[in-house]
Amino acid sequence: PSQAGLPPPPSPAAPPVLQQLRGLATLPAELQQAIAENALALVYQPIRRCADGSVAAIETLLRWHSPGRGPVAADVFIPVAEETGLIVPIGAWVLRQACGAAARAGGSWRLSVNISPVQFSQPELVPLVAGILRDTGLPAERLMLELTEQMLLSRFPSAAEKVRKLRAMGVSLALDDFGAGFANLAALRDIRFDLLKLDRSVLRLTAAQRGPVLASLLQIARAFDLPSVVEGVEQSEDWALARQLGSDYAQGYLLGRPQHDLGEALALPVPG
Ligand code: C2E
Ligand code: MG
Ligand code: MG
Ligand code: MG
Repeated sequence: PSQAGLPPPPSPAAPPVLQQLRGLATLPAELQQAIAENALALVYQPIRRCADGSVAAIETLLRWHSPGRGPVAADVFIPVAEETGLIVPIGAWVLRQACGAAARAGGSWRLSVNISPVQFSQPELVPLVAGILRDTGLPAERLMLELTEQMLLSRFPSAAEKVRKLRAMGVSLALDDFGAGFANLAALRDIRFDLLKLDRSVLRLTAAQRGPVLASLLQIARAFDLPSVVEGVEQSEDWALARQLGSDYAQGYLLGRPQHDLGEALALPVPG
């Protein structure tokens, strides 16, 4: 049959998404340079107890201020770091810096550090954590690692075995962003976590949806005997809902924005 009736091929003018992709092409080299020039920095955000607003933990978040681009969002450069393997040295640097800062600051709050699935899959992960705890003097009981359900893809040794080793050392493990991925129940069944972090997208549902959905996710946490954190608390209504539905912890801009100074993150006032 004739092709004459087919629509014309798409216009060759580059749509904005392609222009953005061209900008992305040089990101790996720029990120490599950022590491060499110490242009990466850490910020610290409090995780508060719902009961009294006190700081239970501090999450470490990575920041990149590029001289050419300005601040580059973690959601943009972390995937680049993962694809290039740069996340392995970057992640080790994050862990060492944060553990050192937490050890110097003292106190009994937990330090929480995000671990990429790529970093988690490295056979050296457990010895790396052990070595950093030894070098910095941070007690293992004060360290929490945040993992996502993608960690289940990790093999040799299995994710479950790595988690067992870390927990045997005294390190705790959080399952991050629950509800944003596949909300994989196998992750909760097969791996013993200490904390379930409910993704902030839950609070961005409609007013009619978020109460019931949050209540259901909190029930899942209880079914697995896990304390929970509600992420993305921005409004006083979010904070009220998290407390009313019985979450153990909450985190978000209302409860403290990420701070460059760890001491400042610990000293932020509790909202009313
Ligand atoms: P995450 O681990 O779920 O971290 C929480 C993200 O939510 C952070 O974004 C934080 O700044 C943001 N956030 C906190 N409170 C609020 C709020 O009330 N409203 C809104 N809209 N956002 C809030 P950030 O720092 O841009 O990080 C994004 C993601 O990048 C993180 O999600 C984590 O998956 C990854 N990431 C950040 N730092 C590191 C790191 O050092 N290592 C690894 N592997 N991943 C990291
Ligand atoms: Mg996290
Ligand atoms: Mg999260
Ligand atoms: Mg996230």
